[in-house]
Amino acid sequence: MNKEKPIIASDYRTKTTLGLALTTLIFLSPFGVAQFVQGNIVLGAFSLVVIVLFAINAWNCKRGQYNFMLTYIGLVPAIIIFFVYAFHTAGVISIFWCFPAVLAFYFMLPERQAWIANIAFIVIVLPQAWMTLEFELAIRLLVSVTMVSIFSAIFVRVISEQQKTLEKQAQVDPLTGLLNRTLLHQTLEHAIHQNRAGGHDMTLISLDIDHFKSINDTQGHSVGDSILRDIGQYLNQHTLSSDKVFRIGGEEFLVVLLKKNLQQGLRMAEELRVAIASLTVPLENDLTVSIGVATLELEEGWDNWMKRCDDNLYRAKNAGRNQVMA
Ligand code: GH3
Ligand code: MG
Ligand code: MG
Repeated sequence: MNKEKPIIASDYRTKTTLGLALTTLIFLSPFGVAQFVQGNIVLGAFSLVVIVLFAINAWNCKRGQYNFMLTYIGLVPAIIIFFVYAFHTAGVISIFWCFPAVLAFYFMLPERQAWIANIAFIVIVLPQAWMTLEFELAIRLLVSVTMVSIFSAIFVRVISEQQKTLEKQAQVDPLTGLLNRTLLHQTLEHAIHQNRAGGHDMTLISLDIDHFKSINDTQGHSVGDSILRDIGQYLNQHTLSSDKVFRIGGEEFLVVLLKKNLQQGLRMAEELRVAIASLTVPLENDLTVSIGVATLELEEGWDNWMKRCDDNLYRAKNAGRNQVMA
C-alpha cells in the first residue's frame, strides 16, 4: 500500500568500505615500503597508488561522502594491473592477495559493478597466474577464487536485502501500510524544495477521526484497528501516486498533495470527509472525521506549514467536528 520510495537510503557500504580501507592501509603499507627497499620500483609505485586510493576512500567514508566510482574506475583497474604485473615479476607468491581482493570488491561496490569487477579480475588476472603454475594448482586457484567470489556475492545479497527490509519496516506503519512519521520531515522539505524549483501549488490535508477513543471503548480495539485500516486504504486509493499519505499518530493522518492548490485541496478534503462518513462500519454512531487544510505559502518552512494545517484541524474540532477548515 505504501507508495513512497525512500528519498535517502542509509548505506552499509560506507561503513564496510571504511573498515576495509583502514585494514588494507595497515596491512598493505609495509609491503609497499618493502618493494621500494628491495628496488622493485614499479611494484612499489603500484602499491602506493592502491594505498593512496584506499586512503581517499577512507577519508570520503569518514566524511559520509563515499562515492563508489573512484573504486570502480580507479581502484579496481589499479588492483588488476597490480596483479598482472606482480605475477609476471614476483610470480606465484602473489596468489594469496587474490582472496582479499575479490572479497573487497563486493563490499565496496554496488552488486552489479562488483560482479563486473570480479569477472574482470578472474578473466584477466588468473590466466596470468596459470602461466606460472602447474595445471592442477591452476585449477585449484580458479575454483577457490571463484568460490570466495560467489560466497561474497551471496553474503552481500543477504545483507542488502535485510537492509531494504529494515528500511521499509522503519518507514511504514504496519497496521495501515501507510508511511509513518520517519520520512515526514524529509518529505515536506523535499516538497518545499520542488515547489520553489517548479512552482506547483502544494497542499496539506490533516485528518483526525472524531471521538475515536469512544469507538475503541464501546466497540473494542479490533474494530478501531479495522477502521484505521479502512481509512488508510481509502486515502491511499483516492490520492495520486505522487501524493504522500502518512499515519502520523494514533488516529491522525496527513496527506501531502504535491500538485494541488487550496481550492483543489479543499474539494478533495470535503470528498474524503463525505466518503469516510459513508464507509460501512459496525458502529452505532456515524464514523466522522475533522480535517484541516493548508497550502504552502511563499518562504514558509515545513514546520510552520504543518502547524497552520494542525491549527485548522483544531478549529474544525472546536467548531463541532465532522467538517473541513482552511
Ligand atoms: P477527538 O474527536 O477530539 O479527536 O477525540 P478522540 O477520542 O478521537 O481523540 P483522543 O486523542 O482522545 O483519542 C485517540 C484514541 O486513539 C486513543 C487511543 O486509544 C486510540 N488509538 C491510538 N492508536 C490506536 C491504534 O493503533 N488502534 C486503535 N484501535 N486505537 C488507537
Ligand atoms: Mg480523534
Ligand atoms: Mg488525535
